[in-house]
Amino acid sequence: MSDDAKMDRRHFLRSGLRAVCGVAVAGTVGALAARGGSDDLVWQIDPDRCVACGNCATACVLTPSAVKVVHEVPMCGFCDLCFGYFAEQRPGDTETAENLRCPTDAIVRNFIEEPYYEYLIDEPKCIGCAICVEGCRQYGNGSLSMQVRHDRCVNCNECAIAVHCPADAFVRVPSDDPYILRSERLEEEEEETVEPRRPSPGPEPARPAPAPEPDHIAPDEFAPSAGDEIHPEELDEFIEPEAPPAASDDAEDADDLLDMLGVDLL
Ligand code: SF4
Ligand code: SF4
Ligand code: SF4
Repeated sequence: MSDDAKMDRRHFLRSGLRAVCGVAVAGTVGALAARGGSDDLVWQIDPDRCVACGNCATACVLTPSAVKVVHEVPMCGFCDLCFGYFAEQRPGDTETAENLRCPTDAIVRNFIEEPYYEYLIDEPKCIGCAICVEGCRQYGNGSLSMQVRHDRCVNCNECAIAVHCPADAFVRVPSDDPYILRSERLEEEEEETVEPRRPSPGPEPARPAPAPEPDHIAPDEFAPSAGDEIHPEELDEFIEPEAPPAASDDAEDADDLLDMLGVDLL
């Protein structure tokens, strides 16, 4: 298969998976909206503040925790060697427990085509330990994030995790928009940084009309008859003003002109 064909297939897979991811989140939001009004606030993790410390797994009042990992597939690199999935130090590359990062085998790895693999979360197995998030952030695209699942969370007034979170990553969000997805944030940031359209150039400024020619009569328009009487001072207006000849040439030019015209000076 050509590289182009592979990329087209990969793009198709990404688009399809993006739709699946969107439907899953929308379904959860819908269920939550039925429980609370838009004025209510609920707990959520800001994924850009979370440092994957692991406290979410043990500090929640629920066991297992109401916090689970979420895989934002549109951001995933579909890596062969995924460090959210494989342990950093491992005896081999087989998919056996000693080589895996997740302590509960909650990540499912599926082959797509060389060299791409997809990674899905088996949610009931996830205990919210954030070990996979740390690996993905360190070596991958950061497509794994921790989120409070609102089909489990009982929205404690004093959330036990908020008290123990070392990164101030536990925040209050509206109950009708209870998830913070990194992929959506990145999309919004990209839209904001798209260069604004340049305004279309205005009409060409009108060019100034050419300055009027100096008011004089060109010598070739002057055609006196032979024998006309002309005073020397009248000759000045028939000599081009732009390039006055040197003083020593004036008399010669006037004489030449008179000779040419056959005019006798008085
Ligand atoms: S306690 Fe805070 S920093 Fe630690 S994993 Fe949970 S949200 Fe992230
Ligand atoms: S509000 Fe309660 S149930 Fe929800 S994550 Fe915090 S401690 Fe767990
Ligand atoms: S490593 Fe921890 S957070 Fe990640 S899937 Fe496994 S149990 Fe869940």
